Order: sequence, then C-alpha cells, then structure tokens
Amino acid sequence: MVPNKHDPSRLERICQAKGVKMTGQRRLIARVLSDSEDHPDVEQVYRRAFAIDSEISMATVYRTVRLFETAGVIERRDFGDGRARYEAARGDHHHHLIDLDNGKVIEFRNAELEGLIEAVALELGYRLEGIRLELYGMSAPRSAEEAHTRTKQLQARLAQAVRDRRPR
Ligand SMILES: [Zn+2]
Repeated sequence: MVPNKHDPSRLERICQAKGVKMTGQRRLIARVLSDSEDHPDVEQVYRRAFAIDSEISMATVYRTVRLFETAGVIERRDFGDGRARYEAARGDHHHHLIDLDNGKVIEFRNAELEGLIEAVALELGYRLEGIRLELYGMSAPRSAEEAHTRTKQLQARLAQAVRDRRPR
C-alpha cells in the first residue's frame, strides 16, 4: 500500500510510542523530519514545514525540534559550521563525511573502524558508550589530468576573486 498523507509518519509513530504528546503542528514537523533524507538545520525544517502550513512559526519549530531531540526521536549533528543539523534517530551506527567544497554530507558505516575505536576506549580504561565522528574532506583527484584541471579551475577562481575585489 502506498503511504497516505494522513497516515502517521514514521517519526510520529515513534513519538506516540514514547508518549510524546502530539499536536497538528508537531505531527507536521515529525513528517517533515521523517521525509528529509538530508540533515536539515532548524531553518530548513521551518521552510519545509511552512511550505505545507504557513501558520507554523519558527518558535514552534524550534521548540518541537528540541522536544523531539530530548525524547530521543531525532539526533542532533554538528558538522563544524556552527549550525545544528537534525536527522531521525535510526539506532544504527553511521558516521558522516562532509565535502568541504560543496557542503555535501555523505553517510558511511565501518564496523572495523568502530571496533578499533572501541579498543582505544578499552585501552584507556573505558567502556565505549558512544561515538561521534565527522570526517571533513575534499574529493581527491583521480588522475594527474584531473589534478591539472582542478588546479587550472582553482587558479581561474582565484583570479576571478581578485578581479571581483578590485575597486572599479
Ligand atoms: Zn546521518
């Protein structure tokens, strides 16, 4: 069966299971977060919710996101740009790589890496309770030719930036 707009979203069902009191607007925010496949910040959640219900306020979105976070329904992420991002808590162990060129966020899993981190914690005398890991990178050129093209592009961008700064 195709999910119906009026069916509770995945997050709404989790909220209900956790005893979070739901209102129409909370339901809407739960749906927006459920449908988001990226890692939106509060402003993006607000814009998406506003597109569906223009009655919703930024303050409501803020409060609701906070409430969902406290209830453990969503997780807050920090990708180093000072904006908190959110995603539905999935209970899996995934990490993020942030592309510094375009801000794209790539999710990845690596059991070997987690085992290693667990071993480090044990070695330090701790039982691991959580991992927060973000990688920051720029996509590496795959060939000398690509590296050359990238350098040319970068030089052109720098030259353009210098031209743009020059007073006319
Ligand atoms: Zn994620």
